[in-house]
Amino acid sequence: MDRTTDAPAVTLATPAQYLRGVGPQRAELLARLGIRNAGDALFAFPRDYQHRAELKPIAELAEEQPASIVGTIAEVDQRVTYSGKSIAGVLVEDDTGAVRLMFFNQPFRTENLHRGDRVLVSGTPRLNGLRFEFVHPRVVPLDEKETLPGGDVLPVYPLTEGLKQPAMRRIMASVAETLSGSVPEVLPEEIRDSLGLVGIAEALLNIHRPENAEKLEAARRRLIFQELLVLQLALAMRRRRLTTDLHSPALPPSPEINARIARRFPFQLTGDQQRAIEEVGRDMSRQFPMNRLIQGDVGSGKTVVAQYAMLLAAAHKHQAVLMAPTDVLARQHQRTFAAALAKSRVRVGLFSGSLSAAERRETLRAAAAGEIDLLVGTHALLYGEIALPRLGLVVIDEQHKFGVAQRARLRSGGLDPHYLVLSATPIPRTVAMTMFGDLELSTLREKPPGRGVVKTYLAHDGWRDRWWQFVAERLDEGRQAFVVTPLVSAGGKRSAEAAADGDDGDDPLEDSGPEGELGLESGGGSEDLAAAESIYRELASGPLAKYRIGLLHGRMSPADKAETMKRFAEGRLQVLVATTVIEVGIDVPNATVMTILGAERFGLAQLHQLRGRVSRGRHTGHVGIFTGGPGSPEENERLQVLAETDDGFELAEADFRLRGPGDLMGVRQSGLPPLRIADPLRDADELVAARELAQRLIDEDPQLEAAGFEKLRSQVIRRYGQVLQLGDVA
Ligand code: ADP
Ligand code: MG
Repeated sequence: MDRTTDAPAVTLATPAQYLRGVGPQRAELLARLGIRNAGDALFAFPRDYQHRAELKPIAELAEEQPASIVGTIAEVDQRVTYSGKSIAGVLVEDDTGAVRLMFFNQPFRTENLHRGDRVLVSGTPRLNGLRFEFVHPRVVPLDEKETLPGGDVLPVYPLTEGLKQPAMRRIMASVAETLSGSVPEVLPEEIRDSLGLVGIAEALLNIHRPENAEKLEAARRRLIFQELLVLQLALAMRRRRLTTDLHSPALPPSPEINARIARRFPFQLTGDQQRAIEEVGRDMSRQFPMNRLIQGDVGSGKTVVAQYAMLLAAAHKHQAVLMAPTDVLARQHQRTFAAALAKSRVRVGLFSGSLSAAERRETLRAAAAGEIDLLVGTHALLYGEIALPRLGLVVIDEQHKFGVAQRARLRSGGLDPHYLVLSATPIPRTVAMTMFGDLELSTLREKPPGRGVVKTYLAHDGWRDRWWQFVAERLDEGRQAFVVTPLVSAGGKRSAEAAADGDDGDDPLEDSGPEGELGLESGGGSEDLAAAESIYRELASGPLAKYRIGLLHGRMSPADKAETMKRFAEGRLQVLVATTVIEVGIDVPNATVMTILGAERFGLAQLHQLRGRVSRGRHTGHVGIFTGGPGSPEENERLQVLAETDDGFELAEADFRLRGPGDLMGVRQSGLPPLRIADPLRDADELVAARELAQRLIDEDPQLEAAGFEKLRSQVIRRYGQVLQLGDVA
């Protein structure tokens, strides 16, 4: 260390300002990146790496073999062609030969290159005549005698305005060199040895200042595994706690009960439904709460599984509630249940924003008196003052916010009900294992037989007339159509993004208004409403003037909404112009055409859910997707994926890849601190290994008290103790 002797020794707690190469101004910039002290810096990992091609003398270059050279600039010539384009050529020599660098239309690239400068050039050489040429290579100016920066692999850090990559690299390399040895090792030696993981000091040094690609890989593997193991240990402790500390009524299935319930279903269950039902039955037989997520694409028949669970509870004289995200959907469920349970003793109640105050009071009273067996309502039920003396089961439909941290709990008579969550936004399995590790997962992949096919068209504006013509033809055939209007307001945009992430754009705790309406149904602000109204008027006076058109938006009263939906469901309306209100769960089999306007404002998952509305019947569904403008390439790629696949799981993975892990639906909502280096999709193997190891460790040693595990245990508690309420474990 070449620090001045009177400087205090650097520790993990040393404020960033006093780190080598920092000072007060840069310290402020670092603070913006969340780096306040040396310890923060050490764990602020690069976001990427540049692999520099192998360094060679010019004489040893080979056609199309990526390489780097170091040489001196012998000549720079800049020309402008007759058509006004610029071409720059730079001749670089070393002791063994010369190469030419070519830059087309990048005059700025040669501004800082002068005859006599020493440079490092990386790129792919191609032979042009007798000489190798690099087109648009990477050029790093070197000082007179400067050695090459870093190793073969250069880290790339997240930056903030005013902080440049080379400075950041130097700061971080210095921190890593000084302090990587002072971080305590949390992984016991036996674990490291059995998995072939390098020690923490070596990992931290090489993650910031990789000696070479292999060392970097070993460092990454070690840090990724550690991060996943700590998370999985926390989740395993939590699972264990749920099974030992919480008590629920045992509601086991029996052949008689199953036969009685099966008679209520007018169709044969799919294999996946059957399996999910068995899993639910097994969970509900236990004396601790079921925590199960049923995920299945739109139309995969999740409601049946929920219905089974609710009837199982009712068979044991326990009450069940089902919560839907919107009033419209709650009413639809209530109708389905009432129809399926006609002529049975099971009593179904509705708790909805569209009830009058008196009706609502009566429902609450009947529920509290045990006169209601199945209560259907909006998510607001969970946060209200509802009393259910024999509550045995809570079903949450289309809930995206099922993160471990905020699953709300209704309790009853000292017992915890069983929980069943339904979600149409599929999560890649490894992601679910990461973020919702205490939830069991059932997946409905198989669709019920006789489901319609959906065709998706990425339309462009030139098609509009023809498209409305096509819609009109379907209407003439007796079908019905949805038109989804764009989200234009800031609020609307936010909810579009949020919904794409699986957030329903709302926090029930903050905003459980009297209607219990959540963000999806709000359809954004007044600008959204204005857009919907103007599209409605345009269609009603233009291409669809002959047809009966209705308008549905989030600003309508629940009663008006319910009425409009009913008229559409009964076929009295042929076209429904709607904000995203219709997204979730509406079942109108005769509706086969959907037009989505301003599609770029929606997430893939949300578009897929919307599309699901027109694959409910025996007719082929058609979806026309229009964007507001030409769109960015990424946007088009995103929408293209939608046109190409109808598999919600594939889409979820594509969305995940295109948007990045931090953006994944539900991840932020899970309430867990973000992962720093692991990526559940990319690091699936490590994730599975970490989960298995964690489960084994906790099975053998529930509190992780064995000698040698103290540091690992305290890291688990420090990072997750609070969010996962592992408090009394600690
Ligand atoms: P989602 O998973 O989107 O909630 P639903 O439960 O609403 O799907 O089911 C979609 C439609 O499929 C409903 O009309 C339902 O009655 C029907 N359905 C569900 N299961 C089956 C089955 N096994 N066979 C035939 N139709 C089914
Ligand atoms: Mg549903």
